[in-house]
Amino acid sequence: GYHAARFAVGEDQTLRQAAPLAFAGARLFAGLAPQTVFISMTVLWWTHFLGIFAFCFFIPHSSHLHLVFAPFNAYWHTLAPKGALPKVTGDGRQFRLDGVADFTWKQLFDAYSCVKCGRCNGQCPGQLSGEEIKPKALTARLRKHVDKNAAKLLSNELAATKAETRKAPDEKKTAGKGKTKNKLVGEVYEQDFIWNCTTCGACMEACPVATEHLPKMIALRRHLVLAEGRVSKELQRVFTGIAGQGNPWGQPQQASPGWVRELSVPDLEENPQAEYLYYPGCAALFTERAQQTAAAFGKILQAAGVNFAIPGKETRCCGHMPRRLGQEPLFEEAVKDNIAAWRKQGVKKIITTCAHCYNTLRNEYPQYGGAFTVIHHADFIAGLLRAGKLTVRKSFPRTVTLHDPCYLGRYNDLVTAPRAVLRAVPALELKEMPRRGERTFCCGAGGGRFWTKPRADNLITGRRLQEAQSTGAEVIATACPYCELVFAEELKSGDASLEVLDIAEIVAESI
Ligand code: SF4
Ligand code: SF4
Repeated sequence: GYHAARFAVGEDQTLRQAAPLAFAGARLFAGLAPQTVFISMTVLWWTHFLGIFAFCFFIPHSSHLHLVFAPFNAYWHTLAPKGALPKVTGDGRQFRLDGVADFTWKQLFDAYSCVKCGRCNGQCPGQLSGEEIKPKALTARLRKHVDKNAAKLLSNELAATKAETRKAPDEKKTAGKGKTKNKLVGEVYEQDFIWNCTTCGACMEACPVATEHLPKMIALRRHLVLAEGRVSKELQRVFTGIAGQGNPWGQPQQASPGWVRELSVPDLEENPQAEYLYYPGCAALFTERAQQTAAAFGKILQAAGVNFAIPGKETRCCGHMPRRLGQEPLFEEAVKDNIAAWRKQGVKKIITTCAHCYNTLRNEYPQYGGAFTVIHHADFIAGLLRAGKLTVRKSFPRTVTLHDPCYLGRYNDLVTAPRAVLRAVPALELKEMPRRGERTFCCGAGGGRFWTKPRADNLITGRRLQEAQSTGAEVIATACPYCELVFAEELKSGDASLEVLDIAEIVAESI
């Protein structure tokens, strides 16, 4: 309006082309006295100025705050690999998350960068399957919580409370002083909300302002497990198994599975010259279904003449599950023990058939100095086929759809190799699901839910199997034992009629 008035009094004529709408609007002032147009110009200028001025005050109280925060949030986004959770340092007391003052500045910054667009909810498998979880609420509730406690935060009262919390109980002199409004765990976030997350990472992938949901979710779990000791019986069994026997099944390490004996697979002590360590992961040592995958992969390695060995008895769980279940010290212990054992045995290259092990060995072991070359079996088989060291001759005349495990597809962008492997199998017809590759949909077992979520309450697995079924495929192929195990379990009683196979099993059948 202001510029239209200026055009009407003959000013700014050189800007006609740059402001065609304002130029057209100048006609509205035609026939008015020049004095009236000048007064209109002044009124319009001040209206514009005051509008912008008022908007600046409105910004901090609205979701438009992201206009200020989002560019910086994207700039300060972690540069660590997508699949690596940040390393936590310090003793057990630093795992507490009582209130605002216990979050890192970046976690609080995240909350104020959120546009409240809901894209994260739209990609969350839990939310889409009807479970009690909303990643958008993770940031929105945190912001609300901070706003409620802003006065205390500014007066440094919370920092004092935080220091007080760090003291042993008998040292506390001012219990209750400076308490935040709303307890963070229990009132702001319910326990179900915290445990329902599969850690699939779909929310972070979808967020336009680079919000990092997962570190906050895992911090809440650490608080529950380590600071409050709120651990279910199932979870306690898993932690005790890993702490005592080195695996979540709590089975004795010396139990050598049938496939190892049948194929006469040596361990590192028996074959110290092995070029590759095949780390099958706990599932392939202690569950029948995953042992079939390990046996198939063992056959492939032997057919291709690969010099490999499996770990010795001192090898433990890779640590992926305890870290995602909030048991950071158990994760660290496993990582350090494995690195020490493998260094002693001269291990340089590790192949694994588990997407979770792959992610942790590749992205999180370097945080503790474990720099190994880590290869997923999909990549390794694709390499053998490319190099002509492995030939698949027999037909596999079935329709197959491929489920990309989150820790392969989304976190590690490993999407081409499993497809190359399946396409190399004669007569196999690949039928893709709409959610695939980097944009895959979780199987429902991630984030330790394999252990914590009763099958009847796990709505994600059934939904994913329906997606697979709707492609018309007969087989759902995957490349992770946990996906395989939950699918197999769901298929026993669910509506879908599919067979679940690992890509290694399909290849082994065809050589
Ligand atoms: S990580 Fe996955 S399950 Fe967890 S909140 Fe994000 S999208 Fe949902
Ligand atoms: S996608 Fe990002 S910006 Fe949008 S609601 Fe979720 S956290 Fe907020």
